[in-house]
Amino acid sequence: MSATPSPMMVQYLALKAQAADCLLFYRMGDFFELFFDDARQAAQVLDIALTSRGEHDGAPIPMCGVPVHSAEGYLARLIKAGCRVAIAEQVETPEQAKKRGGSKALVARDIVRFVTAGTLTEEALLEPRRANVLAAVCEVRGSVGIAACDISTGRMELEECAPDRLAAALARIGASEIVAPEGSAEAPDDAIPRPPRDFSSDSGETRLKAVHGVATLDGFGMFGRAALAAAGGLVAYLDHVGRGALPLLLPPVARSGEAHLAMDEATRASLEILASSQGGRRGSLIDAIDRCVTGAGARQLADDLSAPLTDTARIVERLELVQWLHDDALLRDDLRRVLRALPDIGRALGRVVAGRGSPRDLGQLRDGLSEARRVHDHFARQAARPALLDALLPGLTGHGALTDLYDRALVPAPPTERGQGGYIAEGYDAALDALRQTSGHARRAIAALEAKYRDETGIPALKIRHNGVLGYFVEVPAKHGDRLMAPDSGFTHRQTMAGAVRFNALALHEEASRIAEAGGHALAAEEAHFEELVAAAVEARHTIAATAQALARIDVSAGQAERAAESGWALPVIVDEPCLDIVGGRHPVVENALGARGERFVANDCRLVPADRLWLIGGPNMGGKSTFLRQNALIVLLAQAGGFVPAQAARIGLVDRLFSRVGASDNLARGRSTFMVEMVETAAILSQATERSFVILDEVGRGTSTYDGLALAWAVVEAVHESNRCRCLFATHYHELSRLAESCDALSLHHVRAREWKGDLVLLHELAEGPADRSYGLAVARLAGVSAPVLARAKAVLDRLEKGRAETGGLAAGLGDLPLFAAAFKAEEEQCDTLRDQLRDLDIDALSPREALDLLYQLKLEAGTDR
Ligand code: ADP
Repeated sequence: MSATPSPMMVQYLALKAQAADCLLFYRMGDFFELFFDDARQAAQVLDIALTSRGEHDGAPIPMCGVPVHSAEGYLARLIKAGCRVAIAEQVETPEQAKKRGGSKALVARDIVRFVTAGTLTEEALLEPRRANVLAAVCEVRGSVGIAACDISTGRMELEECAPDRLAAALARIGASEIVAPEGSAEAPDDAIPRPPRDFSSDSGETRLKAVHGVATLDGFGMFGRAALAAAGGLVAYLDHVGRGALPLLLPPVARSGEAHLAMDEATRASLEILASSQGGRRGSLIDAIDRCVTGAGARQLADDLSAPLTDTARIVERLELVQWLHDDALLRDDLRRVLRALPDIGRALGRVVAGRGSPRDLGQLRDGLSEARRVHDHFARQAARPALLDALLPGLTGHGALTDLYDRALVPAPPTERGQGGYIAEGYDAALDALRQTSGHARRAIAALEAKYRDETGIPALKIRHNGVLGYFVEVPAKHGDRLMAPDSGFTHRQTMAGAVRFNALALHEEASRIAEAGGHALAAEEAHFEELVAAAVEARHTIAATAQALARIDVSAGQAERAAESGWALPVIVDEPCLDIVGGRHPVVENALGARGERFVANDCRLVPADRLWLIGGPNMGGKSTFLRQNALIVLLAQAGGFVPAQAARIGLVDRLFSRVGASDNLARGRSTFMVEMVETAAILSQATERSFVILDEVGRGTSTYDGLALAWAVVEAVHESNRCRCLFATHYHELSRLAESCDALSLHHVRAREWKGDLVLLHELAEGPADRSYGLAVARLAGVSAPVLARAKAVLDRLEKGRAETGGLAAGLGDLPLFAAAFKAEEEQCDTLRDQLRDLDIDALSPREALDLLYQLKLEAGTDR
């Protein structure tokens, strides 16, 4: 075996060097082949056979391959598994290669595209109901710029935030891929490092101007340096993965943090907005409310829920449209029927502009835009339209010329492949029709030839057939072969098979050439038309995208209306004063789950007002505390996203920030020091919540020992009450906290009701005023199936503990006199002083070693550091 690698390997290794962080799909005929470690990894992810081919450095080269025609499915799985893929195509035909370098020349190959999670446009690789976002992050002078874009629809947004708000912003965006300058300190760990020079604000601005053909970006909004630098990095990356071909990019939209209800990562996760704690969509908020009938609508809804509004006028605008559609069930049904049949024109446009469009995509644009016009006409006839609808209507029309063109040019159901042609309609191009006629004539002539040859040769089994290698040929069974072999038979021998012999004939050859020639010309003509039709869509990309967006918004509104009508939800009233007045509120996800088991959800009220803005909620485990907390947070979120809410009535004072925290022990699976996480998250609330915020705290403090936990919970409640002064629901199992009602005047006590009935615990899931009478821990344990001997033992221990509590005043003895939060620092100093006094008065020489040791223990205890 020679030590020098084959020319093919040399070519492969050179390409691989350009795509070191990717799996290289190397095109060989009808397959994409992978070699070396790429092959090992792909074979494992895809569960396909790992073979080998030739040798490299004396060892066999591992290899696996996937057929080109089904490559998309394999790509999807690799991308999902976190891989990046580079596609190396043959960029010349074997004939061209021969012409260039002789008969042994290797076909030239080049990487035509990188396929990464954030840069997909193919229908098969995208989830219809989820946006697919690529984000670029870059810091400039203390401000972090974020450029986010969904290249499947071209939507692009730019924003800036303080470095400590980056995690929250990225949690909102939910990007599937993030790029950042190499060595960036701010970027998340999984960001893909890119050359820092790509992230320059000047080049970002220049590129955006060039992409949109404008002299200034002012028309799109005001963008800071950091945002432009991130945009520069984003466009440079897209340029890199597309090998110079940019995808669809719509004009950037400026996003500002203030325009949206702020929620950090922990809040989003704990409210399970787009994904449940298990990770999937099942069991999430969106799963329980999404009634959109289009993928674009579902994507818009996800966006609405990720970034609820903080502008009352815009919220009300959305609510009015939902209400209008809610009140007219007939109109809503008609509308949803039409929308359901709509193709995803936003994504079809994305593929077309990216140069990966098919005739089918053009057909989708035609059908979608025509339907949009019908939706427009339907609405235009309605009286008393809501303002938002009026604003959307113009976006639904204006494509007459384009749809006319596509109507004339395309067949009713164009194919996804262009290779065979046949997508340009008859009558669109006379020359194309003539070419098709010629080949049609020739085909009929060939059919006629078959009959003629059978007659002439007297072989009834004679057939004219076609394959990719020989083209058209005459085939007879082997036993008749000799008859046609005769030199004067008019047939020339081509191939002998096991049971048949194949021949050519002059007349057949002529007709076949006619077909081939006309077919080739027809294909070329169709290709040329395809280019024109694509150019027309590219030209109209902004208005088409606007239509797609308008349809998505209408679908969201109709879906929200449908959902509200299904379960009798209420139109929320948004007010300015910081209140939260919810009558008969429900948790949509828990209610669904109960409904599936035939159980009924118990609705509960929540009435927070400035004078009573902090509710402490006690009661047994499983009593419904968490559910109550979350349902109120979700109601706020849904209302500010512009939808109806699961309640009988809701008056909601606009919320600027929403926080949700769950005590550490609920999240043990996360494996980190969970109490630490709990405290970091609680610290964030205390530093960020304002008088306009809404905070739910669920069993905060239970991640540590009883004393610590109670102490922290106590201090947190006080701080929220005194300093943050936000609306807050605080669930706890510490009875002792009820003493806070004496010192905190805007705090009130509530509990979830439970009863013991014939020795069994009945959880009523009903909220009532006042402190919880007891904790029912043992009753819950019985409910959970803990055995009788263990319960009996626990009861004995409990009795002893309770006796102790009665004697000493319990865990919180003395807390009643504790000065409030603000005075606490002084108290600490005083305690130190008593220590100092004791030390000063100490006569060390008078102590025995034993006494000295005891005293040390005691002092340490008093100093509160006894662990
Ligand atoms: P806690 O936080 O008090 O331990 P949860 O809120 O987790 O209790 O509720 C426990 C279970 O009780 C829920 O999974 C649900 O099945 C049921 N539940 C909670 N709230 C209600 C309600 N309002 N109506 C009916 N069932 C409820």
